[in-house]
Amino acid sequence: MNLILFGPPAAGKGTQAKKLVAERGYIQLSTGDMLRAAVASGSELGNKVKAILESGALVSDEIVIALIDEQLNTNEGAAGFIYDGFPRTVGQAEALDKLLESRGERVDCVIRLVVDEQALLARVTKRFEEQGRKDDNPETFSVRLEKYNGDTAPLVPIYAERGILREVDGMASIDEVSSGIDAALKEAV
Ligand code: AMP
Repeated sequence: MNLILFGPPAAGKGTQAKKLVAERGYIQLSTGDMLRAAVASGSELGNKVKAILESGALVSDEIVIALIDEQLNTNEGAAGFIYDGFPRTVGQAEALDKLLESRGERVDCVIRLVVDEQALLARVTKRFEEQGRKDDNPETFSVRLEKYNGDTAPLVPIYAERGILREVDGMASIDEVSSGIDAALKEAV
């Protein structure tokens, strides 16, 4: 199973991905987590992307595609992968198709968490206060939302046309969203 959890930043993708990992044994591939780990470790990659992450802009397609490729290689035979925060551009989506095709696989399902942007701002302000993630501050968050609307949202019609896009109300409670995802996954297989 190759499942993309899709939606703007702070839509709840990470929370839902972690539930799917616990319940189904899938592997979460969060490019945001991988990049933050690189920054925290002070690696060459981390130093290269630190300022970009802090600005809310996107790192290059090349970097995130390489991270995903590496994870697919090291986790061969996994029950499934949940792509969280990837792909974020048309180029990344095309690269993912190619990576999967070369393994005889494909994107099976794209679940879009549909959320209200104003409510997201409130959600992220709370997360900023609780967790102190620099890129959650309101100014940077608005850059991240702009990037989502400009670069990532164009993927919606692409996956819809393939008939693999499912929509779930991301404003509902965590358990309700999770039930919506389960129902969407049942339809997908
Ligand atoms: P996230 O935790 O998914 O919101 O990602 C945090 C930050 O990491 C983003 O604002 C980007 O700077 C970077 N990032 C994460 N995933 C990607 C991606 N697929 N493409 C480009 N940049 C990414």
